[in-house]
Amino acid sequence: MNIALSFGSDGVALLTLDRQNSSANVFDVATLHELDAHLATLEARTDLKGVVIISAKPKIFIAGADLNAFAGSTPEQLGAIVDLGHRIFTRLERLKIPSVAAVNGVCLGGGCELALACDWRVGSLDKSTKIGLPETQLGILPAWGGSVRLPRLIGLPAALAIILAGRQLAAQPAQKQGLFDDIAHPEYLLAAAKKQLAQGKRPTPSPSGLLNSALLRPLVIRKARQGVMAKTHGHYPAPLKALEVCAAALGGPLEAGLALERAAFLELVKTDACRSLMSIFFLQERAKKLKAPDADGMGRTVRHTAVIGAGVMGAGIAQWVSARGYPVLLKDVSPDALAKGLAAAGKIYRDAAKRRVFTEVEARAGLERITPAHTDVPLANVDLVIEAAVEKLELKQKIFRQLEARCGPHTVLATNTSALSIDAIAGGLADPGRVVGIHFFNPVHRMQLVEIVRGPRTAPAALDTAVTFVKSLGKLPVLVKDSPGFLVNRILLPYMVESVRLFNEGCDVRRIDQVMLDFGMPMGPLRLTDEVGLDVAQHVAVDLQNRLPKPVPINDTLVQIMTKGWLGKKSGRGFYNFGDKKGAKEEPNPELAFAQAAGQGRTQDDATLRDRLVLVMVNEAARCLEEGVVGAPEDVDFGMIFGTGWAPFRGGPLRYADTLGTSEIVQRLEKLQVGVASYFEPCARLREMARTHAKFYPNS
Ligand code: NAD
Repeated sequence: MNIALSFGSDGVALLTLDRQNSSANVFDVATLHELDAHLATLEARTDLKGVVIISAKPKIFIAGADLNAFAGSTPEQLGAIVDLGHRIFTRLERLKIPSVAAVNGVCLGGGCELALACDWRVGSLDKSTKIGLPETQLGILPAWGGSVRLPRLIGLPAALAIILAGRQLAAQPAQKQGLFDDIAHPEYLLAAAKKQLAQGKRPTPSPSGLLNSALLRPLVIRKARQGVMAKTHGHYPAPLKALEVCAAALGGPLEAGLALERAAFLELVKTDACRSLMSIFFLQERAKKLKAPDADGMGRTVRHTAVIGAGVMGAGIAQWVSARGYPVLLKDVSPDALAKGLAAAGKIYRDAAKRRVFTEVEARAGLERITPAHTDVPLANVDLVIEAAVEKLELKQKIFRQLEARCGPHTVLATNTSALSIDAIAGGLADPGRVVGIHFFNPVHRMQLVEIVRGPRTAPAALDTAVTFVKSLGKLPVLVKDSPGFLVNRILLPYMVESVRLFNEGCDVRRIDQVMLDFGMPMGPLRLTDEVGLDVAQHVAVDLQNRLPKPVPINDTLVQIMTKGWLGKKSGRGFYNFGDKKGAKEEPNPELAFAQAAGQGRTQDDATLRDRLVLVMVNEAARCLEEGVVGAPEDVDFGMIFGTGWAPFRGGPLRYADTLGTSEIVQRLEKLQVGVASYFEPCARLREMARTHAKFYPNS
């Protein structure tokens, strides 16, 4: 049983959502049928004042539809599931008695659509409360009435802002938007919901305001469409379809709107974008369940942490770790760096408080959990140290020797190195098994991915500690082998190097970046090089060139540009001029011609440019698999999407390879190998797969 029906002496019926053997409430077919049966019971009663729908789970109302259960369904089965939801939610809406959703915790997708079918919605002020319709992020649209009911409730512009971006709202903003009729502290939620029942059935809502007038509707639709196109470059069919349905359903009969929803949903589930976006959802779920191999829960429970180095990464890590409730000792040799690091962490907290991620009190308490130190302090009771000092092997080795002497015998010693060998860092230690890589990405508070690097001598217990700790931070871990560049930088760097080569051959900066924006990357590769820093990019590229058996060779273009003092964004200039004003749009640097070997390359078409940039990554991604840098194609795609924002609707480099077909990939690489350079030679894995027409994902 997933929903319990009970009756109070006050004449109010209570539908309590409490999915058995699960920490979350989700909608599947069985739960829908249960709800249907309870509605029949309610219809038969004549003595009730109303019904309140509430959850027994502490942080979840309903998280959404059970995607696992729906994943293998045929289009016919999916159509039937949509119909079932439509019928039951409409039945709820048409109850003779008033209904209220008393929402505490996550109320998303189907959960939100259930709440929308109620007469009233009351939200709890608990931090976990989030209401919204994230379906477009999965490549579909709200199809249990959400695309029809939300615009009717809060107006088209406000509804589109939520549906097209898949936004989730906390209680107060949701009340401001009209999604919640009232809000209350969790302990008074039920009372507030019952009070709401006194208002009876909701009169047919008609949102007011100029923007909701029929006259301005075409303008609202045009603006929303422009917004979607600017953001998605037209690669994502779902928000456009949702816009169409929301607009067309407004003002017409409910049933006609629901029919539009159904047709649009069945169209969208067939798209490649939907398949890719769904696969990303499952990759995320997979990462949340990652376990260290052979560890069997041997890891150490982390209570106290220390971060060594208070620079860009150290400060970011200390902030994130402290925000998750861990005390952090933040150590740097330079008092200046320490002060800057604390200020940086403080700024992240303040910005988050402004966005209401934390209250002011929580932000202050978080910052206070960071204890700064610039002299040697006792580390014996620290369970996990994360070293984020300067990227120099000798320095890191020295730091680790000192740590081994100062920490307790079981303290796990982690490094945030982006490229150095974990095993080399652990080289001089009596117990190298305690050393593991925990590689965060920059900026730490935005990037969800963390590479957990297993050195050849890393002990299972240390690995287990790292995996469990990273998951407790709410980050998404991927397990990688101790090898040059690990996973993400190993694949990303050849792409950046290739973009610099194209520039050197005479291609225009904007054109190179535009080709990849059109492909679906969040940022062009030269703009990315500016962001990372030309010096850092060059350093990592040289390192990979020296350590990989088949590197993409670098030239001296970046070195030449750096002679002018142009290091990218941090110096105000690189491939782009960043200007002095905050928020000013960057323009390509007009003085870069000296770094181009004029005349070559200009005739290459966009398709060749794109293949050179994308296939260099696909080839490297396949090599990573070939060399066992990660265990599965899923790890590669997951790492690239969450570590770099790799065109999500394409599902990652290896899913993209499947979409084109491995034989096509190999043919194109061979063409580039002959026409451009020998390093495009397809790797053995790709060749073998092409020969047998194999796929990275044979089952999809
Ligand atoms: P940074 O230069 O901003 O900071 C390094 C800090 O370490 C400085 O404040 C310095 O004073 C301090 N330090 C130097 N020697 C020390 C010692 N013996 N004990 C304590 N502190 C010491 O560097 P960063 O960008 O924060 O990078 C730190 C590490 O993280 C490097 O290994 C880097 O490769 C890695 N990393 C960086 C990024 C990035 O984008 N910046 C991303 C991922 C990983």
